[in-house]
Amino acid sequence: MLLISCPNCGSRDETEFHYGGQAHVPYPENPNDMNDREWAEFLFYRDNTKGTFAERWLHSTGCRQWFNMLRDTVTYDIQAVYPMGTPRPDVSVPAAAESGTASTAADSTTTGSAAPSTSATSISATSTASSTTAPEGATK
Ligand SMILES: [Zn+2]
Repeated sequence: MLLISCPNCGSRDETEFHYGGQAHVPYPENPNDMNDREWAEFLFYRDNTKGTFAERWLHSTGCRQWFNMLRDTVTYDIQAVYPMGTPRPDVSVPAAAESGTASTAADSTTTGSAAPSTSATSISATSTASSTTAPEGATK
């Protein structure tokens, strides 16, 4: 079970949240200029990163606000929680690194255009107690 630190509400149980997919996927500037393949790739193609991954979360039974989270997809360690519209924080991966591809994801610039912004400015790196079970819905 993950203990997720909402930027607005503080630490809450994982069951209060919904996973919202990969973060920092900018909406195309000219969607009408895209062919069907490019549009489909924008809609459906996402990175499948092993290691630190930026993802969106919704505190659905709390403040109902979206926020971003850096989470390790292997260990489920939450490395940072930060408001929508702010750039991805530079979190150094803890020394437990495998010979992995931790931060090679194509992380384009942040736009935040499609997401409601929050006024919270706290960027807190929280780590939770070790979790041995995969959270339901967090691995889609
Ligand atoms: Zn909240």
